[in-house]
Amino acid sequence: MPLLSRLSLQAATQPAHLDLNAHIFTHTHTIIYKMARQFFVGGNFKMNGTLSSIKSIVSALNDAKLDSNTEVVIAPPSLYLIPTRDHLRKDVEVAAQNVYDKPSGAFTGEIAVDQLKDANVNWAILGHSERRTLMGETDEFVASKTAHATDSGIKVIFCCGESLEEREANQTVDVVTRQIAAVTKQTKNWDQIVIAYEPIWAIGTGKVATSEQAQEVHAAIREWLKKNVSEEVAEKVRVIYGGSVSAKNCKELAQCADIDGFLVGGASLKPEFADIINAKI
Ligand code: PEP
Repeated sequence: MPLLSRLSLQAATQPAHLDLNAHIFTHTHTIIYKMARQFFVGGNFKMNGTLSSIKSIVSALNDAKLDSNTEVVIAPPSLYLIPTRDHLRKDVEVAAQNVYDKPSGAFTGEIAVDQLKDANVNWAILGHSERRTLMGETDEFVASKTAHATDSGIKVIFCCGESLEEREANQTVDVVTRQIAAVTKQTKNWDQIVIAYEPIWAIGTGKVATSEQAQEVHAAIREWLKKNVSEEVAEKVRVIYGGSVSAKNCKELAQCADIDGFLVGGASLKPEFADIINAKI
């Protein structure tokens, strides 16, 4: 669907207000902010692929017809960042799956923001649950990396999300907003951050959140940002969903008012990734 039609649909679904002036004012602001909320689809290859298989994915993306209204970023393993950037179409960006919070030095195994920029890589995924749980990354460390990256010109897909136990204990919003609050303490660079809400129980499990479950958390994140950061950030920041997104379920999720795109793991390695990028058309 063309961007303007999407905007009028979104505007039409805004709640009615009693005061006519306030109503027009609110609508104007909402439309301006939403205009900035371009649909975003990220592909997280994780620790998968070879030179040859990643070349094939890049060629397929280069040949695919992709919705020009959607911003697309793919994240191969670090070893393949440069060949991916060199061969990928220019309207698709490349992300690292991690970046360190120090400029350079004796940090074996880490990558610096300046090295990413040197390689023409402008994005990084930070705070993925696999790094939080398997590598023990804390909220504060993820926030520090997010602050350092965005201060130095690398945009960040910031991941947050609850475990199954936390969801069952009704702690979803507390967990997610605690993770976001840690970022708020260290940076104000929200214009360079895309929030990826990724319930851990949905990642790589084939068990996708329902559109109601995802929309509820996305709306709660926006509400939290409105109260704790600003109304402008709350309306402008993109909140994308990740967790077993596929060509089959993406269209329904993409219809939700507060879902501004997807972070895709497994399906980003398959031809259906192009269909997910085109979820809005
Ligand atoms: C992810 O790793 O960010 C992810 C969402 O994975 P999957 O799509 O495979 O669930």
